[in-house]
Amino acid sequence: MQVLHRSEHTLKKALISKNPVLVSQYDKLDAGERRLMSEAFQPSSNLFGPIIVHSQSDWINSHPEVPQDFEQFFTDSHRKAPGPEKHIIYIQSIGSLGNNKVISEEYIKWLKGYCEAFFYGLTVKFLEPVSISETKCSFRVNEHTQNLQIHAGHILAFLKKKKPEDAFCIVGITMIDLYPRDSWNFVFGQASLTDGVGIFSFARYGKDFYSSRYEGKVKKHQQTSSSDYSIFDNYYSPEITSILLWRSCKTLSHEIGHIFGLRHCQWLACLMQGSNHLEESDRRPLNLCPICLRKLQCAIGFNIIDRYKALLRWIDDESNGSSGAAPVNSSDPANLKKPVEAFKDWREWLIKCIAILEK
Ligand SMILES: [Zn+2]
Ligand SMILES: [Zn+2]
Repeated sequence: MQVLHRSEHTLKKALISKNPVLVSQYDKLDAGERRLMSEAFQPSSNLFGPIIVHSQSDWINSHPEVPQDFEQFFTDSHRKAPGPEKHIIYIQSIGSLGNNKVISEEYIKWLKGYCEAFFYGLTVKFLEPVSISETKCSFRVNEHTQNLQIHAGHILAFLKKKKPEDAFCIVGITMIDLYPRDSWNFVFGQASLTDGVGIFSFARYGKDFYSSRYEGKVKKHQQTSSSDYSIFDNYYSPEITSILLWRSCKTLSHEIGHIFGLRHCQWLACLMQGSNHLEESDRRPLNLCPICLRKLQCAIGFNIIDRYKALLRWIDDESNGSSGAAPVNSSDPANLKKPVEAFKDWREWLIKCIAILEK
């Protein structure tokens, strides 16, 4: 294990920069916001810890990248920012998301609500769900894992055509695994930043994907021609648990963050850290470090406290229902409770940040 300590000087420069325009922009932030952001370089801060590398296979060792500080983000001429004409994040679900229609619909509403709070100030809308066959994408059965996979690039092309005029971006979500090309085993997601489109799969986020009992394996006799999409009818979908919701929210916010021009974070423990595998992405937090937070705030223009309160409301809303938690796989929408147990620590973190902002 290796702790990547960044010096106070390094973090200050990454956050505030030496550029007089950006320094004065920082000085104009609300006092509470500056107090919170300066936690980035307080060695005793329990809000923003250092990046901890666990193994050589972790992202930061295997994918050397140029770090992006706030100034580099600000001056990046290729960066896309939402504007009055393009201010909506569209979510397109592809194929069934849950093992029944009710849970599918609830789940996408939870994700929409999360994105609305995370990208506070933008509107999030979902498009009418589409089936796999409507996308006309190629698909295959993975020869190692025996599960169904759809071609990520074909889905991106489909989404690009569907992207509404007022879209800042359109992101597809699916419970079917993805592959980027024949020679690759799989990919969690793929995006085109210039086109503002992305596709992300949550297939591997269920609790059983990597177990021998995984039920998404296609039996030999079920394998039909490459144009017969009926194989997707009633195809296995993982159970929507709290951990699956937590992972989905994390992926979606990380990937949409890239569409805003945020690169992988190399400063502090942060949602925008790169990840090479599920275990590593589970380790990274849901929150942005102050440097990435300033980038997102600069792109959208929210008050940090309003955003944190919206995130807190998202965790608390609909989750403290009547006596005891109803099973997530209930088919009655009135009984469905958002499974937010996995967000408990984050809730405490948000409360601490709000206290600092309000001090
Ligand atoms: Zn990334
Ligand atoms: Zn960061």
